[in-house]
Amino acid sequence: MAEGNYHLGNGEIVVTEDQHRSTGAAVTEADVAHLRRCVELATEAVDVGDWPFGSVLVGADGSVLAEDRNRETTTGDATRHPEFELARWAATHLDERARAGATVYTSGEHCPMCSAAHAWVGLGRIVFASSSRQSRAWVAELGVVSDPPVRPLSIREIAPGLEVVGPVPEFADELRALHHRFRKERAAQG
Ligand SMILES: [Zn+2]
Repeated sequence: MAEGNYHLGNGEIVVTEDQHRSTGAAVTEADVAHLRRCVELATEAVDVGDWPFGSVLVGADGSVLAEDRNRETTTGDATRHPEFELARWAATHLDERARAGATVYTSGEHCPMCSAAHAWVGLGRIVFASSSRQSRAWVAELGVVSDPPVRPLSIREIAPGLEVVGPVPEFADELRALHHRFRKERAAQG
């Protein structure tokens, strides 16, 4: 299968990682449901002026253990990414085996800070709806120059041993619109 391609079949969507190589992994209907909740959380974040990101931590048995959304604007703390919060939650509440068996679902690919936190605390699989490359492209469509103080390295570049699945194409249009809404509202506030 060509890189960047996917297909539907038997309730599964086969996705490929858009920055490096095919993961050969599939997302299930349960994965999609958890990603759907991540997008809801990302929307809640934008509703109050925070950045468009939400994440859910799911145990090996499929139960939702914790969830959070971005809180950078409302706390004034640029490290308040949901993936970082879930890594800290897992370190406090789960033993090593439970952390390794847990999956973090997130609306947008982990940034380097969150990738490192995820790996340091020994969490398991990551499933992201949209890639960092996609979000940069969506912002660029608005003519916004993105110049982050941290290099936008992919999860694989930070923690090459992690199982990573994404992006999941069915969320692209909705997340693109959410990123555009956030940037436009932010620009309007000056
Ligand atoms: Zn982050």
